[in-house]
Amino acid sequence: MQFIDLKAQQQLIRQKIEDNIKRVLDHGRYIMGPEIAELETRLAAYVGTNNALGCASGTDALVLSLLALEIGPGDAVFTSPFTFFATGEVIALLGATPIFVDIDPVTFNLDPALLAPAIRAVKERGDLEPKVVMPVDIFGLPADYAAINKVAAEHGLAVVEDAAQAMGGEYHGKKACSLGTLGCTSFFPAKPLGGYGDGGMVFCDDEGLDRLLRSLRVHGQGEDKYDNVRLGINGRLDTLQAAVLLAKLELLPDELAQRQQVAGRYAALIADSGAALTAPRVPDGYVSAWAQYSVLAESEAARSEFLGRLQGAGIPSAVYYPRPLHLQTAFAYLGHQPGDFPHSEAAGQRIFSLPMHPYLALEDQEKIVAVLAGA
Ligand SMILES: *Cc1c(COP(=O)(O)O)cnc(C)c1O
Repeated sequence: MQFIDLKAQQQLIRQKIEDNIKRVLDHGRYIMGPEIAELETRLAAYVGTNNALGCASGTDALVLSLLALEIGPGDAVFTSPFTFFATGEVIALLGATPIFVDIDPVTFNLDPALLAPAIRAVKERGDLEPKVVMPVDIFGLPADYAAINKVAAEHGLAVVEDAAQAMGGEYHGKKACSLGTLGCTSFFPAKPLGGYGDGGMVFCDDEGLDRLLRSLRVHGQGEDKYDNVRLGINGRLDTLQAAVLLAKLELLPDELAQRQQVAGRYAALIADSGAALTAPRVPDGYVSAWAQYSVLAESEAARSEFLGRLQGAGIPSAVYYPRPLHLQTAFAYLGHQPGDFPHSEAAGQRIFSLPMHPYLALEDQEKIVAVLAGA
């Protein structure tokens, strides 16, 4: 059994992938070939934004977004501590200060009710200027953007959506990646839309921001390519990755539908099993892209027992994320203590993820849940 089965997917579109790769080998434009613009156009239409910009990774998508917003030393960026390291890393890498805001214990996403108090506290302290809120659509479920965007607008903050895990997710009829000022996704192979290497994309409606992003992606290039007008990065998406992604994009709608089925079956099986587990809940009006299917045990000790049972039965599992960002060594300089963000810490102690992919068979899911129930 696979945690994420990329082979089953490849079998369905192997010929298409080979054809697309062959086309790149034939035209030879490995850097910024025509597949880049084609992927950008197709994904902007899918997500529902005016612009999309291919880049080298999800991490670079976040870096480019913050660079476009001119974030640096003295700026405060508000984000969730319950996320992959990159979310907080990029803020600090640019010299800005991550201000963590605890999660809602049901959705595991930044709790909008805690955002305004966090912004006010920073303003009262007076040493940092609140500039950006960077919510994460964790495990593929969008954060509550109506509430977050309202608070952000009241305080003049931009919203950078970390939708690295959420391509295909929805919030009240709008697609993930289109829910903030800028939306960032990742094409890391295990994400809902993954390539065969690293890649990412930034989405926005604002033409000025899009022009800035295009310059920042190529070392701050100006109108004249030999005149660099600002500092940027080498953040391009490879043509070969775009070619692979164009083939995979055709499967995305079917795969998302299959992920909903797999998630629905897990929820029913877990409810029937009597196992002391909390299945993930998707609020009304939301669609998760189900990058992960993450369940909660009642305690850390109970989680250890569940993980032991799965391992004993040869079933792969994973823990995302055992250590919230405020307790990571790299952020020790921020001076946080255990207890500062209790919901993130409790999730880190109790959560674990089950195999999840569009091709997961019902029999496998029955076996997984039977093992969890101790049968
Ligand atoms: C994967 C991920 C990233 C980084 O994406 P890469 O393509 O690996 O650089 C950022 N944020 C979140 C929430 C992620 O899951």
